[in-house]
Amino acid sequence: MATSDPRAFVTDDYLDSLVSVLDLVRTGKAGTRPALKACSGYGRAVVSQRVTRLIDCGLIEEGSLGPSTGGRPSRELYLRSDTGVVLAAALGATSISVGITDLSGNLLGHHEEPNDVAVGPERTLSRVEELFDKMLATGTGGGKDIWGIGIGVPGPVEFSAGRPVSPPIMPGWDGYPVGQRLATRYHAPAWVDNDVNLMALGELRAGLAQNETDVVYIKIGSGIGAGLISAGRLHRGAQGAAGDVGHVAVAGFDMVTCRCGNPGCLEAVAGGAAIARDAAQAAGEGRSTFLADRLAERDGLTVRDVIDAAGHGDALAVELLNRSGNLVGRMLATLVNFYNPSLVIIGGGVAVAGDMYLATIRQSVYRRSLPLATRDLRIVRSSNIETIGVQGAAFVVLDEVFSRARLGRWIDDGTPAGRPDLSEAG
Ligand SMILES: [Zn+2]
Repeated sequence: MATSDPRAFVTDDYLDSLVSVLDLVRTGKAGTRPALKACSGYGRAVVSQRVTRLIDCGLIEEGSLGPSTGGRPSRELYLRSDTGVVLAAALGATSISVGITDLSGNLLGHHEEPNDVAVGPERTLSRVEELFDKMLATGTGGGKDIWGIGIGVPGPVEFSAGRPVSPPIMPGWDGYPVGQRLATRYHAPAWVDNDVNLMALGELRAGLAQNETDVVYIKIGSGIGAGLISAGRLHRGAQGAAGDVGHVAVAGFDMVTCRCGNPGCLEAVAGGAAIARDAAQAAGEGRSTFLADRLAERDGLTVRDVIDAAGHGDALAVELLNRSGNLVGRMLATLVNFYNPSLVIIGGGVAVAGDMYLATIRQSVYRRSLPLATRDLRIVRSSNIETIGVQGAAFVVLDEVFSRARLGRWIDDGTPAGRPDLSEAG
């Protein structure tokens, strides 16, 4: 593609070096010309030319003189983060979370509200668009160019097509052109990904995984899923379905049918919806006064009620959370043996259950993993469960927009939306 570009200077080598220099500046890994030379391996002249080019097209700017390291002090270089905005959304089974970020992925505004994803794409996406419009009209992002849109959904996504594929908890969404719809409405490229992938990416870029290369993010919400970071990059797999661990079979639970139709899936036994379901049934049988009282106040129970009950020392609630932690830990042990991550991050609504839940998972993982795989393994709770998915949705946009495959196509137009290629955008 680059070689057939009429602008002959955009050769493959040129683009490689331009993207490398830009990546180092925008991720904060190198902020001066000498630092860029040291980190990129390119010579002084090449670095200097690429920096000049990036300044000329308005992507980076020079700041004050940096600290002297013996020789002449160098000017600090920054990405011009405020020249555009990214719209980001994370849909959960029971919530909509939307945000607007600058070009460094910093959140400028954020809003979350309840939503049942099962009401379908029309109502859900109309609401997402309303919330985006409100942010663009009133927020700090008003008047700025939209460089891209990222959205996460709680189900398997064919990443290249921007469509959910047979998502078990999203009736009406199968094959719906989510990316195409948003791209057309906002005249900007759009990407759709699985919600847990985006949480993993959010942690990699702005959270607990910033200095890690091999990470597993486990979301234990209504359902259960995993996002994988391998060698510093999000691992989506051949079709985008990597990490769908909620539907591995758990021995001894064949009598429970999962929303996907199969018997004994992990999420049908250990996920938040399963915990709430079993708690309601047991409370109805008189096994917990605390939960029976809650049940009398409303229609059903949520996993929140169970977590509250456990906090009050309710034996049934503690037992249900322990069972969940144990089963999740067993599955994780398999992942740890197979995949050898240095960090496992636990997120989702059930993860707020606290240290006891985390301790159960840890114990179960360490008991069943090989010593070498767990020698330096850390298992921690997600840094910012409310916003990490939205941040990840923004980073997937920024990574694509500044990628080698795209930068050369839009750089002369000033923004990636300058010549939107909607047919290709997800
Ligand atoms: Zn299943």
